[in-house]
Amino acid sequence: MPAAPPAAPAPITSSAALSLFEEKVPGDTLLKIREDLGECTRCKLHKGRNKLVFGDGNPHAQLVFVGEGPGADEDLQGLPFVGRAGKLLTQMIEAMGLQRKDVYICNVVKCRPPENRTPEPDEVQTCSPFLLRQLDVINPKVVVCLGACASKALLQTNRGISQYRGEWQDWRGRKLMATYHPAYLLRNPPAKADVWKDLQKVMAELGLPLPKKKSP
Ligand code: SF4
Repeated sequence: MPAAPPAAPAPITSSAALSLFEEKVPGDTLLKIREDLGECTRCKLHKGRNKLVFGDGNPHAQLVFVGEGPGADEDLQGLPFVGRAGKLLTQMIEAMGLQRKDVYICNVVKCRPPENRTPEPDEVQTCSPFLLRQLDVINPKVVVCLGACASKALLQTNRGISQYRGEWQDWRGRKLMATYHPAYLLRNPPAKADVWKDLQKVMAELGLPLPKKKSP
């Protein structure tokens, strides 16, 4: 008897993501979302947290970067992407002709996972509604997912990021681009070229002039 065919990969769809938080909160603001989080203990990540990392940047940004979760530096400072990977993200943003204050930066989970492990599904599920509210309030033209965790969380897919990295996805009425996380680029510098290609697509979508500089 022939072996059963492998299960089809989960589709990339926005409908499942919508089910995480079906309705927009009327009159929602970033301040209200932060107040609703409070000293959050909704998932076990609160146990090891120093500071909750809500997000940072322009509340009206056309471009939002979504990472995985805070690391050690972020946990101490309460700000996203301020460690080594954050410095590389800053370089990437500046290579796009922007500054950090022009964009908004946040993560899927707002408290540091122990030893920087990948957030677990229950943690992602518990924290994601707050991220979706942030994205609805900011209402950017483009969302860039940095790495597999953010991509899987927002697109609700199990597909490997390399299968759709660099391709535009429709997501809740916006354009979403998945690309590699800066921490991955620190371990695999040759992948910077791929990310730079993705970011140039983002620049074109936002109407930003393409610089001559090769890559960050
Ligand atoms: Fe709350 Fe999110 Fe922190 Fe979990 S990671 S405790 S849900 S803020």
